[in-house]
Amino acid sequence: MTIRVLSIASEAAPLVKTGGLADVAGALPAAVAAHDVAMTTLLPGYPAVMGAVGTGGGKTRAVHTWPSLLGEPARLLSGTIGDHPLLVLDAPGLFRREGGPYGDATGRDWADNGLRFAAFARAAADIASGAVKSLRFDIAHAHDWQAAMAPAFLRFAPAGIAPPSVMTIHNMAFQGHFPATLFPRLGLPDEAWSINGVEYHGGVGFLKAGLDSAWAITTVSPTYAREIRSSEFGMGLDGLIRARGNQVHGIVNGIDTREWNPASDRALANTYSARTLARRAANRTALESAFGLELGSGPLFVVISRLTWQKGMDVLLSALDHLVGTGARLALLGSGDKALEAGFVAAAGRHPGRIGVRIGYDEALSHQLQGGGDAILVPSRFEPCGLTQLYGLAYGCVPVVSRTGGLADTVVDANPAALAAGAATGVQFNAVTHEALCDAIDRTVALYRNGALWQAIQRAGMKSDFSWGRSGKAYADLYANLLEAR
Ligand code: ADP
Repeated sequence: MTIRVLSIASEAAPLVKTGGLADVAGALPAAVAAHDVAMTTLLPGYPAVMGAVGTGGGKTRAVHTWPSLLGEPARLLSGTIGDHPLLVLDAPGLFRREGGPYGDATGRDWADNGLRFAAFARAAADIASGAVKSLRFDIAHAHDWQAAMAPAFLRFAPAGIAPPSVMTIHNMAFQGHFPATLFPRLGLPDEAWSINGVEYHGGVGFLKAGLDSAWAITTVSPTYAREIRSSEFGMGLDGLIRARGNQVHGIVNGIDTREWNPASDRALANTYSARTLARRAANRTALESAFGLELGSGPLFVVISRLTWQKGMDVLLSALDHLVGTGARLALLGSGDKALEAGFVAAAGRHPGRIGVRIGYDEALSHQLQGGGDAILVPSRFEPCGLTQLYGLAYGCVPVVSRTGGLADTVVDANPAALAAGAATGVQFNAVTHEALCDAIDRTVALYRNGALWQAIQRAGMKSDFSWGRSGKAYADLYANLLEAR
């Protein structure tokens, strides 16, 4: 029997993306389709999404209206994302505004984010419990705090109408915490205002409510699933995670190999495979010129990242003089904290021709960095899964990563035993400190200088299994188990 799943996400590639959540939500429908799961994605009707689905023409049509969705008029559009069904919540008062999905053009969060994503989740809960006659779902699957109220609305729904729900944590650091004044607007029963409900430290905790209400919880790597049981990584919700015990599952992300395949990537000057690694040279030259770097013999490190404390970018900044001192170079693409942005721009000024920095968000350039760089640096303090190291593996851009979360699970450190076995795919280091990162850079440069060894590491990475195969099945099995338990 085909299992029908409503995937509730605030972003999904290629329509709207600010980070890894979009890659995963975009790839999941195809990943589970192979296991007899029919997934429909629900997205908010931001301008970019409305533009892509059209506003009535083509195959898009309105399938439902809410005269008042938590006070806002809204309607539901039905269309497609890639080969899969898409539902778009068109609530102009909440989502049709210029800027990003979560904030204005200056990066400031929208003041009404609580109401915006509560309404999104309310709509999702309605749809999942059969409010739209033409749409039937067996499971509601919510991603991150923006969708996390959906399991809570379902839990407090009248008996018998709500399907089982799954809550996936893509990053525990973002929790959606809003003032108590939001609660009366949610239309939830009084009993929901409780520690066993949506109340969290005197306010409404969206992720907390989702974690407390969902039938099952998943996060995006086995190591992160263990880490969030501790106060160091649980960000205050570790007690709740521990209490949910074996209902918490770690399922590692795959990559969408239709988007990320060096053999067919149209963003690259030269496509290549593990057998034609020499063809990467042209991509590297193109990068050197795009970033104003000296054509060089030393390794070219790359970074594609939000510039934040989580990503260890402050530590990387402190290691740049050392990196250049080894004869290596760096090309960095990213945006985020203003102080870090300024720090990287200043470092590029100090090391002209050795460090190139592009502040901003550029999808094509991110592919070019993977396709031409020698090694990608990911020194995260915590990393639920991480995707850039997976793209690095697929592209022969050797990942150099801290040993945490999904980074620990997906990269095999080039220690002597792994090298001897031909299993090494990258470099790992323990604590995210200046010394440990400098050490990892030194180890990487030494490996790089042994050309045959380096190519073996590149090839082992390119051959490793970073597809959605196993993880798509893990989600399908989880859905089936929940339906059985019902
Ligand atoms: P997170 O979701 O925490 O930011 P991930 O590694 O899971 O980190 O996913 C980040 C995604 O965003 C990857 O697809 C990466 O290539 C992309 N990305 C990050 N920064 C940029 C940027 N400045 N330009 C283009 N893509 C970026």
